[in-house]
Amino acid sequence: MKTFLKEISIRTGGRVEFRDITREVEEAVRESGIKSGVAIIFTPHTTTGIFMNEDESGLKRDLEKVLERLIPERGGYMHDEVDYNAYAHLRSILLGASLTVPVENGRLMLGTWQSIFLAEFDGPRSRRVYVRIMGSD
Ligand code: ZN
Repeated sequence: MKTFLKEISIRTGGRVEFRDITREVEEAVRESGIKSGVAIIFTPHTTTGIFMNEDESGLKRDLEKVLERLIPERGGYMHDEVDYNAYAHLRSILLGASLTVPVENGRLMLGTWQSIFLAEFDGPRSRRVYVRIMGSD
């Protein structure tokens, strides 16, 4: 089995932002030379998330609205007494910090409408995403 690790650096531009990182992840798979296996996409921050869905501007606005409804920015949270970003941590917990995608024939096995996103909830900041690819060539 072969493994490969790639660090992707992202400078987010907004307080809340959903950034399509599919191209960068595909590039990591290509660089790895691994043809068959899995890719793990992981963000090491407590106020970001990783998710997969369609890259459509209306849907991204809808997601922003739903998250605001579920976890409003001003929610009277205890963590806001030490660091005013509790909503960002809570949304990060909801989305999760990683995804696993199968790799076959040297490509991510994504459906036609699936894209991989980094969700920023406390930007703008410099963020990292790690892509670990494991498999055989
Ligand atoms: Zn905090």
